[in-house]
Amino acid sequence: MKAALNEPVTSDLRERIVTKLLEWYLQNKRDLPWRGASAYGVWVSEIMLQQTQVATVIPYYLRFMERFPTVRALAEASQEEVLRYWAGLGYYARARNLHQAAKILVERYGGELPTEPGAIESLPGVGRYTAGAIRSIAFHQPYPLVDANVARVLSRLFGVSGNLRSTSTQARLWNLAQQLVPENEPGTFNQALMELGSLVCIPSDPRCEQCPLLADCVAGNAPDPTAWPEASSNKRSLPVVHSSALICNEEGALLIVQRPPHGLWGGLWEFPRVVCSAGETPLEGAHRAALEVAGWEVTAMEPKTLRAVQGQVAPITRIKHGVMHYRITLYGYLMRPKAPVAPKEERPKEWVTPEALSRYPMPAPQAQLREAVLNRLHAPLPNIQPCFVFEETNSPDYAKES
Ligand code: SF4
Repeated sequence: MKAALNEPVTSDLRERIVTKLLEWYLQNKRDLPWRGASAYGVWVSEIMLQQTQVATVIPYYLRFMERFPTVRALAEASQEEVLRYWAGLGYYARARNLHQAAKILVERYGGELPTEPGAIESLPGVGRYTAGAIRSIAFHQPYPLVDANVARVLSRLFGVSGNLRSTSTQARLWNLAQQLVPENEPGTFNQALMELGSLVCIPSDPRCEQCPLLADCVAGNAPDPTAWPEASSNKRSLPVVHSSALICNEEGALLIVQRPPHGLWGGLWEFPRVVCSAGETPLEGAHRAALEVAGWEVTAMEPKTLRAVQGQVAPITRIKHGVMHYRITLYGYLMRPKAPVAPKEERPKEWVTPEALSRYPMPAPQAQLREAVLNRLHAPLPNIQPCFVFEETNSPDYAKES
């Protein structure tokens, strides 16, 4: 049963969400240096993580904590030195506030972070989110927190409409977070919500089929989970890169996989595809699609000659595709299978001859990819059956699901 809008979260639903999320977190959480840190360590990590990605923060956090292992060590350092240890992280006001707050903690609280209500919130640079993180994670107090990841998860889980930046939507999300946070393990729960937003309920490509909350999620059971949260009207469209592995065996058959039943294009077929991560090239993405989605180690093929090559090869095509506030570029790379591996997700798969490919329903951009492959492989296009393609209407949302 899903939570209705404008109603309190029922105790049953709350318990299900908390239990499933904590179980998932225990199995899937990343090993990060601030897990289990002191209140000071939690505070430093949360300030560094504002506006900055985890991978970037890790080396900064380790260096900073080695040089300033306590509040007192930080308070006694010069601002110049603190900024030197922050150099490269950006948003230097965060470092100045941290330093100033450390001095206040030494003067008023003996160098400890205070637990009494309102005290943490009064420190420079500590807002509601950071206070919630310190209170719940370090002091095990049932305080909620809502950052960008949590806002996205909650808006999808409960189908919260409205711009996430609006005061009323923010109030609703904080209220939901407050209702959910348990008395026991509030910090673990809050970290689990953030981790789910980082690893599973990601912006343009939520992995609903891997999500512990799918059964209770409004968005996960809707045709298009990325319809939540609502896109900001003045938001510029974001570029996203997708990459597909066009795995062709010695007999000339191509490997296709069936999409999970949830989300837009649920149940349709596609060439193994991933959304490329930051810093990942399309070719690397295609290799990952082969490994994680198809379950094959592969060798990329040079499309002009169809010889297997190492290193950089060109895609056989690039397809541009607009999706609400995403601008997607889909790459396709011809690849030869080398050795089977265990895929990350189990999905139905088929090796299909070029002639038979058109019998499988595909989203429109994947059908374009298919045409490009058939052209490249010199398939007898005139003999191909009429293409079974789901045409897009209104906003083409193919790329928002995965
Ligand atoms: S089911 Fe999908 S949309 Fe819902 S919380 Fe999980 S990943 Fe997000």
